[in-house]
Amino acid sequence: MTQTLNTTNHDRDIAGLKYVYPVISRRAGGLSIGINFNPNNACNWRCIYCQVPELQRGNAPEMDFALLEQELRFFLDYVRHGDFFEQFNVEIHQRVIKDIAISGNGEPTSLKDFDKAVRLIGEIATESGVFPASKFVLISNGSLLHQTTVQAGLTELARYHGELWFKLDSATEQGRKLVNNTGQSQQKLLAHLKLAASLCPTKLQTCMLHYGQAWSDSEKQAYLALLREVRDSDIALQQIMLYSIARQSFQPEAGKLEKMSLEEMNAFAADIKALGYDVSVAS
Ligand code: SF4
Repeated sequence: MTQTLNTTNHDRDIAGLKYVYPVISRRAGGLSIGINFNPNNACNWRCIYCQVPELQRGNAPEMDFALLEQELRFFLDYVRHGDFFEQFNVEIHQRVIKDIAISGNGEPTSLKDFDKAVRLIGEIATESGVFPASKFVLISNGSLLHQTTVQAGLTELARYHGELWFKLDSATEQGRKLVNNTGQSQQKLLAHLKLAASLCPTKLQTCMLHYGQAWSDSEKQAYLALLREVRDSDIALQQIMLYSIARQSFQPEAGKLEKMSLEEMNAFAADIKALGYDVSVAS
């Protein structure tokens, strides 16, 4: 049976592979090839809006590098030279590989050989002719930047002209406790941001929603104050990407989360822009 892959279908098992999955991304305007280092649904954080089913605390399991290589080579070939787009009824204007995104069912940098995995993906995508035309993206909560393998992985990412999307949902320790269920200190956050930006192009990715004190006026002021501090410390951020919840959370708080309106996000984006940052808003 022919399946349809569109911007609302985000089933990571659709291609039947362990590590590689296709997503038609409205944001990217075409095919985003996701790489999931966390097939065990394990993360060191528990964000209240997380869409990972049966999320558990933990790290990525040992990587089967031979399988990753086999799946990625197969899938890139299937998309570029096979009938993937026809099989999945992808609309003509979206038949382009926009990016390869390391984005899984958990925190990807918790993989033991993280740098080796980034390098392997970079090599295969380059050999296949997908890079440099398509982007290389790592989506991470940035909490494990103190590990040398993570730093080495970011250096590899930069070598392949990739970029890090660093999750920042609150500029306060209380806010991160509430939204991400993490005890990340302010000092650690700043140190990791500084390190990340020094190793590879870094964008902030911020989820805006209403839940308790999340994104109260004081939270917004704290976020703007942090961006001011980051700017004045010469930490170069490429862009601030704001978005709100679009799909159902699988966390117990799901029923109490309220999507932020585009109007409210646009107003906040204007405040960020006034600080000299490039900002994008996705509803
Ligand atoms: S960091 Fe990502 S995978 Fe981990 S809990 Fe948050 S949203 Fe889920």
